Amino acid sequence: MNNDLERLIVLQRLDSAAADANRKLADAPDREQALDARLAAAREVVAAAKAALTENQNARREHEKTVALHQGRLSKFREQAMAVKTNQEYHAIQKEIAFAQTEMKGAEDAVLEKMLEGDDLTASVKRAESDLAAEQKKIDADKKTLAAEAGELKAALAKLSAERAGVVSSLTPQVLAQFELIANRRQGIAIAEARDGICTICHVRLRPQVFNNILKNDQIIQCDSCNRIMYHVPKTVAAPAPDAATTSAQ
Ligand SMILES: [Zn+2]
Repeated sequence: MNNDLERLIVLQRLDSAAADANRKLADAPDREQALDARLAAAREVVAAAKAALTENQNARREHEKTVALHQGRLSKFREQAMAVKTNQEYHAIQKEIAFAQTEMKGAEDAVLEKMLEGDDLTASVKRAESDLAAEQKKIDADKKTLAAEAGELKAALAKLSAERAGVVSSLTPQVLAQFELIANRRQGIAIAEARDGICTICHVRLRPQVFNNILKNDQIIQCDSCNRIMYHVPKTVAAPAPDAATTSAQ
C-alpha cells in the first residue's frame, strides 16, 4: 500500500477517536447537571414531607388549644351551676355546658385525626430521608465515575495527540494538507473505504476505472462525489471459522 495512504488510515483512526473523546468530555457537564438535578429533586421531596409534617403539628396544636379553651369554660360553667338561684339560670348554664362539650368533642376528634395523620407524615419524612441518603450515595459514586472517565479521556487524548504528531511527521505535507481540508469540510471524516465499486460513506458508485485504480491502494484518489480519499480493504479469502459463521448468520 502507498505509504501516505497507509498513514492516512491511521491518522483518521486517531482523529476519529479524539473527536469521540472530545464529544464525551463535552457531554460531562450535562451529565453532572443531571445528577445534581436528581439530588435536588430528592431534597425537595424531603422538604415537602417535612413541611407537611410541620403543618400537621401546627394544626394539631391549634386544636389542642381549642380543647383547653373549652375545658376552661366547662369548669367555669360547672362552678357557676353550683351557685344558680333560679331554674332559668340553671337551664342557661346547662345550655352553655352542652355547647362547650360539643365544641370540645369536635376539637378532641380533630386532635386525634391530626395525630394519626402525623404518624403517616413522620413515616413519609423518614422514607424521603432514607431515599435521599441512598440517592446521595449513588450520585456521589456516579460523580466519581464521571471524574474518573474525564481523567481517562484526557489521558487518551494526550496519547492520541502524541501518536498523531508521529504520524503527521512522516506524511507528505501536501497529502496532510489535503486530508485536513477534506476533514474540515466533511465532519472530520476525510477518508472512505471503496467497496464493490461504491464509496461506503456517500454511497455513490465510482467510475469503473477509478475503482480499479483504488483497488491498487497505490495512490491518493478522491471520491468524485464527496471528495474523500479512497482506499480499499482486500477481502480475506480464508474460510470462516465456525464461530464467525454462526455470528454472521445472526
Ligand atoms: Zn464518497
